[in-house]
Amino acid sequence: MVNVGILGATGMVGQRFIELLADHPNFEVTALTASSRSAGKRYEDAVTWHLESKIPESIGDTIVVDTDPNQVKDVEIVFSALPTQHAAVVEPKFAEAGMKVASNASAMRMEPDVPLVVPEVNPEHLDLIETQQRKRGWDGFIVTNPNCSTIALVMTLKPLYDQFNIKRVYVSTMQAVSGAGYNGVPSMAIVDNLVPFIGDEEEKMESETLHLLGDFDGTTVTNANFGVSASCHRVSVLDGHTEAVFIEMEDDFAVDEIKHSFSNFNGLPQKLNLHSAPENPIVIREELNRPQPRMDRMAGNGMAVSVGRIRKDDVFDNGLKYILVGHNTIRGAAGASILNAELINEIM
Ligand code: NAP
Repeated sequence: MVNVGILGATGMVGQRFIELLADHPNFEVTALTASSRSAGKRYEDAVTWHLESKIPESIGDTIVVDTDPNQVKDVEIVFSALPTQHAAVVEPKFAEAGMKVASNASAMRMEPDVPLVVPEVNPEHLDLIETQQRKRGWDGFIVTNPNCSTIALVMTLKPLYDQFNIKRVYVSTMQAVSGAGYNGVPSMAIVDNLVPFIGDEEEKMESETLHLLGDFDGTTVTNANFGVSASCHRVSVLDGHTEAVFIEMEDDFAVDEIKHSFSNFNGLPQKLNLHSAPENPIVIREELNRPQPRMDRMAGNGMAVSVGRIRKDDVFDNGLKYILVGHNTIRGAAGASILNAELINEIM
């Protein structure tokens, strides 16, 4: 078993890490960190637990420590669910101390020597780790996964990008409140309402998507070359981001070709049969009123993206449109980091 730690273990994403790692065949959680507000307390006393599952027995009594590499002993991998500003400062310290950091935070995602990876999409970008360690003189390293709305989008774009020429992508999101963290959106702002702005989210979707689909020559990633325009909105849903996607292709296509491309999509995690890999990364729903967040967010144990209403759009040239739903704290966050770590554990 590999000993792992969770940084920011008391937050929305930190709790998902604990739940998903509870019976993991390769990873054992031996360290939990959070802010100084929680450090020194039993996990059960420090956390406001939001998940339907119970706090695993082995975790409840664990003492939370400060998010400091000197406090985290005998751990090979740390999963980071820290706020971005804090991640920017402490994640490099953990890597410098020799630990492998699998991060959810956006702080290091766009650093040219830090892999931003979705294992079904661009596992080859993990080769950047060598460059990173050489350049920074670290024994450990940092690997990141994209933002929650980007992951679901890019998983559906990858099979299309490989098979068709994409000219432009427009995406309009309806994002769950858990995506903002526990203290993120006050109930007075979101109940009976929609908030048509999520700070930095549109910029992240636009840049991370092109980076994930970018070419990698062994040392540098060159972004994919098509337009992405995102409009991001917070809605009164607890978990599960919904996205309306519109794509302009260079050439004509048949809807059945798109469905075939989606339903046959898989990647390295499926080939290697990794523990958290969904059998089908994309699940097609044929019902006119699906996918819906409440019904479809747990597809593939929360690791698959559900896609429906796949149809042509006559306003755009060679236009395609569809709706997708992805679980933001599982596939969009904790599950994504765990799958990255499973892949690293298997191939490195
Ligand atoms: P959250 O619920 O606010 O949790 C934040 C965690 O960080 C808590 O454990 C908190 O500990 C700890 N923390 C806060 N300030 C700290 C400090 N100064 N030093 C050390 N620890 C500190 O946030 P979240 O939604 O889980 O998000 C965590 C990260 O994942 C963020 O970078 C976010 O952007 C990213 N992310 C979130 C989602 C999502 O769907 N929620 C998806 C993708 C990526 P205390 O309990 O002690 O305050």
